Amino acid sequence: MSMEGRTCVITGSARGIGRGIAEHLGEKGANVVINYRSSEGAAHEAVEAIEDAGGQAVTAQADVAVPEDVEHMREVCHDAFGPADVLVNNAGITADKQFTEMSRAEWDRVMDVNLGGMFNCTQTFYDDIWNADEGRLINISSVVGKQGNFGQANYATAKSGMFGFTRTIALEFAQGSSTANCVAPGFTRTDMVEGVPDHVLERIISGIPLERLAEVEDIAAVVRFLASEESSYITGEVIDVNGGMDL
Ligand code: NAP
Repeated sequence: MSMEGRTCVITGSARGIGRGIAEHLGEKGANVVINYRSSEGAAHEAVEAIEDAGGQAVTAQADVAVPEDVEHMREVCHDAFGPADVLVNNAGITADKQFTEMSRAEWDRVMDVNLGGMFNCTQTFYDDIWNADEGRLINISSVVGKQGNFGQANYATAKSGMFGFTRTIALEFAQGSSTANCVAPGFTRTDMVEGVPDHVLERIISGIPLERLAEVEDIAAVVRFLASEESSYITGEVIDVNGGMDL
């Protein structure tokens, strides 16, 4: 599953799931654009890790919710490696509250980053992916987009919105050789779940048939397959990577 010569842009890839995806793709020979919003030091560490593994990477600072920033990221990508073959919309945030306590600002911010960021990045890199040989759009959704989750009306709405978007772009791309898919991780050991109290985590794990949280490598391995040319007959799908939470 070589990624040699393929240029991959991964949003929010200085840490967490995005970092795992970036390192997996870089180790397989991809040219990687490490996007960060605030984690500059970690972004440079990610570049070093990929270079140590024999790959190539650059950093691009951009808030995915800001179209001008995303345009800057495209320029960084084109200057370093040329057009992108693969875009992974991974950057995401939560702002949890029971619905009656949730402010409109908390709703809007989650939509701006999770859905608005996907819009901005996909639109900016659309021509690259469309024109690529076996271009790939991969959106990182969540099991919460399917099942809902207490206190996450904003996040669950954004994550399920990714499904319809992905299927629609998949239909548009189907007239060429590019594909669009979603990956829907279950609860994954990153900073995003770091703040969840232990007793809540224990309850979550007791509901997972495989009886553990996902590690970033579990998600990255699936993204790497979808990013490769081997996945060319899969499009418009939502691939669950959740330890059997739907069973
Ligand atoms: P995380 O550890 O909280 O990291 C979030 C990442 O998103 C960081 O790299 C952050 O960059 C970036 N980011 C946030 N806002 C951004 C913005 N406006 N512009 C650019 N980058 C931004 O989260 P994670 O757990 O790795 O989650 C990654 C993705 O997987 C998210 O879409 C999340 O919804 C999804 N997911 C996570 C889980 C889970 O249990 N962890 C489960 C299902 C789905 P900076 O640090 O530079 O700000």
